[in-house]
Amino acid sequence: MVPAVAISGVHKHFASVQALKGIDLVIERGEFFGLLGPNGAGKSTLISIIAGLCRANAGNVSVLGHDVVHDYRRARRCLGVVPQELVFDPFFTVREILRIQAGYFGLGRENYAWIEELIEALMLGDKADANLRTLSGGMKRRVLIAQALVHRPEVVVLDEPTAGVDVELRQSLWQFIQKLHAEGRTIVLTTHYLEEAEMLCERIAILDQGRIIALDTKDHLLALGMAHATLQLVTDGPIANCPPVLAQKIRKTEGNRIELQIDRQKDSIIEIVDALRGCGTQIVDLRIQEPDLEDVFMQLTRKDR
Ligand code: ADP
Ligand code: MG
Repeated sequence: MVPAVAISGVHKHFASVQALKGIDLVIERGEFFGLLGPNGAGKSTLISIIAGLCRANAGNVSVLGHDVVHDYRRARRCLGVVPQELVFDPFFTVREILRIQAGYFGLGRENYAWIEELIEALMLGDKADANLRTLSGGMKRRVLIAQALVHRPEVVVLDEPTAGVDVELRQSLWQFIQKLHAEGRTIVLTTHYLEEAEMLCERIAILDQGRIIALDTKDHLLALGMAHATLQLVTDGPIANCPPVLAQKIRKTEGNRIELQIDRQKDSIIEIVDALRGCGTQIVDLRIQEPDLEDVFMQLTRKDR
């Protein structure tokens, strides 16, 4: 079966900045795929290359078998991209911009019913005749999503679709994206909300400084994190003369709250508590937090790796 997106040997530089340093990645049809990474990792650059908006310096990318450079039109037709930046022509209404966008794909009146469906599904009904410049950031985000879907693409790429969006709207966008996936589309989502990736994505690539540093199913990535757990302690005061073995496990201190990362195999919680008591510190509260994707992410992207 032809993959949804195939990326091989992609390099990209901007002057002296090496944004992508050899990316190989295959996303299968029907996957819900997460592309994660810290700011500046190269996520948006990779998406621009997939969308054909920016050319790689080396390597190839195809969407449903269509090369994004040599077969741009066909590749673009299969693809809906929701960009990270909110860019709009301020002179049109929501409905107008969606009709114009569909026109770029040669779609006219026969597509109007679908546009109305999108307006409905994204709860843009009240604003359909409002000028784009009058919309709030969250509303603009929804218009961008509708714009990406006007031509019913099979592969939908969303670059941080919920960034700066309030919690309520984020929930409804998640539901909407899940519905798109359930209908058989391939979803590629970049996000810096790890809980979002944890909830939605089946397989995840972690990008850091232009390289893929992890590529696995969400479950495997979480299992990787299972080796560690976070111990949250509340003490009766600051720890004096903390022994180095303990100090190196401390990840965060906030007043009397301390977070330690413990190795489940090697560390004994009793010994840690005893060591603290040995420094004259009493423990008022103790909690063990199970690892989540954020822990795995921190582990993998730590600069002292
Ligand atoms: P992300 O989306 O993961 O935050 P980007 O793909 O936006 O990362 O950026 C990757 C790197 O490429 C960064 O160092 C960024 O500054 C640089 N970069 C991105 N676009 C441009 C551009 N148009 N001109 C110069 N540098 C760029
Ligand atoms: Mg980005």
